Amino acid sequence: MRKRQRLTITGVVQGVGFRPFVFGLAQEAGLVGFVGNDDSGVFVEVEGNTAVLTTFRDRLISEAPPLAHIETIQVADLPLGGESAFRIVPSERHTAVHTLISPDTVLCADCLRELRDPHDRRYRYPFINCTHCGPRFTIIQDVPYDRPQTTMSQFPLCAACQAEYDDPTNRRFHAQPNACPVCGPQVWLANVQGEVLEVADVWAEVAARLGQGQIVAVKGIGGFHLACLAVMDTAVVTLRQRKNRPDKPLALMVRDLPTVRHIAQLAPDEEALLTSSAHPILLLPKKENAPLSPAIAPGQTVLGVMLPYTPLHHLLLDAVQAAGHLPALVMTSGNRANEPIIIHNEAAQSELAPLVDLFLLHNRDIYQPCDDSVVRSWRGETLPIRRSRGYAPFPVPLPIFGENHPPVLAVGGELKATFCLTTGRHALMSQHLGDMENVETLALLAQTVAHFEHLFRTTAVVLAADKHPAYLSRRWAEQQATARNVPLVLVQHHHAHVASLMAEHGLDGTEPVLGFCFDGTGYGDDGTVWGGEVLLADYRGYERLSHLATIPLVGGDTAVRRPYRIALAHLQAAGLDWDKRYPAVQAASELERQIVRQQINSVPTSSMGRLFDAVAALIGVRQTVTFEGQAAMELEGMAAGYLGQEGYAFGIDEQAQTFSAAPVLAQLTADLQKNTPLPIMAGKFHTAVGNLVCDLAQKLRRQTGVKRVALTGGVWQNVTLLDDAVNRLTAVGFDVLTHRLVPPNDGGLALGQAVIAMNNEQ
Ligand code: ZN
Ligand code: ZN
Ligand code: FE
Repeated sequence: MRKRQRLTITGVVQGVGFRPFVFGLAQEAGLVGFVGNDDSGVFVEVEGNTAVLTTFRDRLISEAPPLAHIETIQVADLPLGGESAFRIVPSERHTAVHTLISPDTVLCADCLRELRDPHDRRYRYPFINCTHCGPRFTIIQDVPYDRPQTTMSQFPLCAACQAEYDDPTNRRFHAQPNACPVCGPQVWLANVQGEVLEVADVWAEVAARLGQGQIVAVKGIGGFHLACLAVMDTAVVTLRQRKNRPDKPLALMVRDLPTVRHIAQLAPDEEALLTSSAHPILLLPKKENAPLSPAIAPGQTVLGVMLPYTPLHHLLLDAVQAAGHLPALVMTSGNRANEPIIIHNEAAQSELAPLVDLFLLHNRDIYQPCDDSVVRSWRGETLPIRRSRGYAPFPVPLPIFGENHPPVLAVGGELKATFCLTTGRHALMSQHLGDMENVETLALLAQTVAHFEHLFRTTAVVLAADKHPAYLSRRWAEQQATARNVPLVLVQHHHAHVASLMAEHGLDGTEPVLGFCFDGTGYGDDGTVWGGEVLLADYRGYERLSHLATIPLVGGDTAVRRPYRIALAHLQAAGLDWDKRYPAVQAASELERQIVRQQINSVPTSSMGRLFDAVAALIGVRQTVTFEGQAAMELEGMAAGYLGQEGYAFGIDEQAQTFSAAPVLAQLTADLQKNTPLPIMAGKFHTAVGNLVCDLAQKLRRQTGVKRVALTGGVWQNVTLLDDAVNRLTAVGFDVLTHRLVPPNDGGLALGQAVIAMNNEQ
């Protein structure tokens, strides 16, 4: 029997070669009809024999293109149309529906082969792409995803490119960013005065300059990077000085896997993550004698490594290798301190000129900034540290909420900010926006929210923000709520962390979890600084079951930058002497000791992040920090491989309402007086925390009957601790939730705020 059906397909189905794929399938099956894009995805009308139609539908799902992600297929029967062929029809625009947008995607193997083939017309062309690879999110201005609605609109296709674009059998059929050296974007070099440099070979010239120790601003896919040779200490030190970034680790872009293995240890799981379609920065254990500048990640045992992900980056790293250097570049975000990554040539030339010696520019405009993503690999899974390029704006599914749920906009916290816009079943997480501490980052938040709301045809009618009264993100949300005349839900910081972890696991929120939220900073309901919290939480609310006994955080942010002060406060709270032999005591001036002793200008804190800092200071790992988490990361690096022996022990009170670090500090200072090696003390401290989590969880399980534990908050970026805690908890029968889709740090906060607001809006 002959039938006609309309298929409506949603998901990531635009910009991924879906229409040509449908076209090919339909032609092969001898079906007639058409396929096209609209704002909700792809529509298909097919007509033919019933059995053939069924096979066609099955193959749509089972053979979909690599970048496609089908969410739903709706099927409706139609009267016969009677055409004689199958064709691709122009895009249609509707209203009030949304489609998903593909993240930018790593150069595919076919395009890489052509890039290196001297006989190919795109040999060494830095903007080669096809329907399976290339820029998407960063160049899309509007949907449907068609060339005129991208920053490629200014490059009319030449005859050869147009022929590929129109040929259903070609890999570039309807590849919107399709381009070649004749018709597409170009690269050029400019000096710091902005003058274009005439050179025979751009790539050889850049490599030569890098070889002289120069720093090059490189325009990529989601913004500028600052690049220099990773082997060259003088260049790396200069880059740090110019960027005023003393210690924070610098990411590396490394040409290929053999070079990665030359500088870092790479397990099979990690190799899979490094080469995954997102090509994130992956934290890997540094090899002892890696021939790298020690200034790349001072004090750290891990390196942040990524592979080249655009043709431009491949050409750059190829040239570095051809010039005889180890093909590994420092590739750090091109921005001024604490400001968003720069995306425009003009801004780069005015703002980055003091930082660099040369500009590698191009004229494919970047519409959305998108920093590199950072991940760790843990037990074969992704532990996101920063979810951005390659992941955003792919949503976190929210299976628990209906399509018609009112859209919520949650604006995150302060550090590592992202926002979350919900569209019923989806939580659209923005790319990494930066630390929400200045007007530039705040402006980026406002712009990106406007872009998302337009792109996804969704206007939030409920807003959510952190309870901290001084956060700029909260103030912005308050203004928006007033301007839009919609409710604003204020969410406690650690409640949001726990909810974000529940949401990424698709929990419906009917059963509470024991949320162990170990974090740096978060505004507590009592006005103090929380961060060592055990919450009995669901989406509606929470109960603070237990927390780390507080110490005075003397001088607020100053104490955060000087962990030795926190060490002194912890010693004092534990009734222990400030022995002059302790490194943390030596680091403090007499005046500072007085300030801590008298608890001047202090606020109580239960922060576990600060306890890690204090322990690092106390045993002499580090006394001051220049970026968040620095001391704790070094402590973790030291402890790795030293867990499992006898640990220190926290004190847990009778009702398990507080736990105290005082006994830990007493045992630790005793070890310190015996000149115990640092790694042993670091290991014993980690063991103590793992033990604490397990003991406390069991006590609270007896009180509450809850058997599911959620490990969240910035402290859980520590995989050494995570591994130990999960082992202990699962051994005693807990169901343990850990992060895989959004970061445990504040980069994941907005998701939790959103689902809490979805359950609590007025
Ligand atoms: Zn390709
Ligand atoms: Zn062309
Ligand atoms: Fe936090």
